[in-house]
Amino acid sequence: MVKKKRINIVWLKRDLRLQDHAALHAAEQQDIPYLIVFFFEPALYQHADTSIRHLQFQYDSVLEMQERLAAFNKSPFMFHGEAMAIFNWLNEEFHINDVYSYQESGVQVTWERDKAVASLFQKNEIGWIEFQRDGIKRGRSNRVGWDQDWFNTIKQPLILNNYRPQESISCNHPFPLPEDFRAKMESYSAAMQPAGQKQAWKYIKSFAEDRGKNYARFISKPAESRKSCGRISPYLAWGNISIKQAYHFIRSHPNYEINKRAFNGILTRLKWHCHFIQKFEMEVAYETRCVNRGYESMERANNLEFIEAWKTGKTGYPLVDACMRCVIETGWLNFRMRAMVVSFLCHHLDCDWRTGVYHLAKQFLDYEPGIHYPQFQMQAGTTGINTVRIYNPVKQSQDHDPQGEFIKKWVPELREVPATFIHEPWQMTQIDEAFCGVKIGIDYPAPLVDLKESGKEARAKIWGQRRLKKVKTEKQRILEKHTRPSRPKSS
Ligand SMILES: Cc1cc2nc3c(=O)[nH]c(=O)nc-3n(C[C@H](O)[C@H](O)[C@H](O)COP(=O)(O)OP(=O)(O)OC[C@H]3O[C@@H](n4cnc5c(N)ncnc54)[C@H](O)[C@@H]3O)c2cc1C
Repeated sequence: MVKKKRINIVWLKRDLRLQDHAALHAAEQQDIPYLIVFFFEPALYQHADTSIRHLQFQYDSVLEMQERLAAFNKSPFMFHGEAMAIFNWLNEEFHINDVYSYQESGVQVTWERDKAVASLFQKNEIGWIEFQRDGIKRGRSNRVGWDQDWFNTIKQPLILNNYRPQESISCNHPFPLPEDFRAKMESYSAAMQPAGQKQAWKYIKSFAEDRGKNYARFISKPAESRKSCGRISPYLAWGNISIKQAYHFIRSHPNYEINKRAFNGILTRLKWHCHFIQKFEMEVAYETRCVNRGYESMERANNLEFIEAWKTGKTGYPLVDACMRCVIETGWLNFRMRAMVVSFLCHHLDCDWRTGVYHLAKQFLDYEPGIHYPQFQMQAGTTGINTVRIYNPVKQSQDHDPQGEFIKKWVPELREVPATFIHEPWQMTQIDEAFCGVKIGIDYPAPLVDLKESGKEARAKIWGQRRLKKVKTEKQRILEKHTRPSRPKSS
């Protein structure tokens, strides 16, 4: 019998980079060679939250790692199949000593997968060393001391990964990427942010060197924020850059003193990023049930035509429609616009948050479950601990896109509509319509709801629910579990 080759494995997940990488660093310190693996798992990518753009981003990120590691015989291997089947095969083929990876604060299917894999490893005496990701702690039951722990972790020196050449490991596995799958991976839209660590650094550097000077000024503007915001979210979500790398880079940048307010703004948000993921790590059920169980009994109209109109950008509210069309095309919206479209769906259109949560998860290139579900529910008003904000899309439009430039870019039907009517095109007379060549109700939809009425009903519904005993008991439970003693109001 041929003796199996003894190896370690580094299992890449949402950590697609080569520096400040604890799992790669640990494997590099050992005396035995290691195999780097990345899996495209049908059970995960067929889940309702995932879209092709996410897979393409992962694919391009791994390709970049392959290129950089080729010289060391350490190119990551891509597999297409379920983790259990792949690890079973790897275990047949090799003598696996240890598997190194980061902990994943993912949706329920990833927890199930990880539990199955853990028992496979245990049965076969394979060690699994999982590293903490970005200061998010596994096994916490409350937030006491979390802030300090987070700062302690983030302020630690960056891990300097050095790679030595190793003997090549032959791995002709039976899990190749199917041809049609690979073809799809190679048709990534140029309208999306390009993937990979090189791009991550390009974005964060241009932010610190120039773009960031307007961060605070334009943060809520749908058009201008596309340039002035960090735009590092997809890179953080897929791990092309770590929170620690981003934090150190911004904090120690020569422009920090000049742009202190802006840079502190983004540093605070890096902490929010982890703060939200920590919630989800501790309560993964937020993917499918209300943060505050007391809101489960709240009845919603869930009008299917409204939901479809919202998804496709045909609600008759120009800024909402521009955002929904823009996110389909580009994968990104700023925070305020994300909050507004969710608020519009749940409050004005009276739809349960679950009718839209996966749709936006699929659109956001930076989809990060730990931020997405808690944030979505905050805007839907189902946490019971946050101030509920019902955004008025007309006011948002007047305040943040006064000339309608963003609207006109994404809703071409309204291109000729003057600024006086762009926020409320249904106010045009027939003569106005004739002047700009658009008929409301025919070329562009009439508004689905009357904002005054829908806002009033939404307020009555949400405040009424707040008075329920179940909502109040749950509120107490949530405060004890998920908030720190001195929490600011918005978290
Ligand atoms: C309904 C809804 C869903 C969201 N889903 C996601 C998601 O899936 N993935 C995601 O990364 N962000 C999500 N956000 C938060 C926020 O909108 C994005 O992080 C931000 O727009 C990303 O752009 P940026 O990188 O230019 O951010 P910047 O303003 O430059 O901030 C830098 C980083 O800080 C973090 N950050 C910024 N704002 C927040 C916030 N409010 N909460 C938590 N972290 C924040 C992000 O990692 C971001 O990349 C969501 C917000 C809402 C309202």
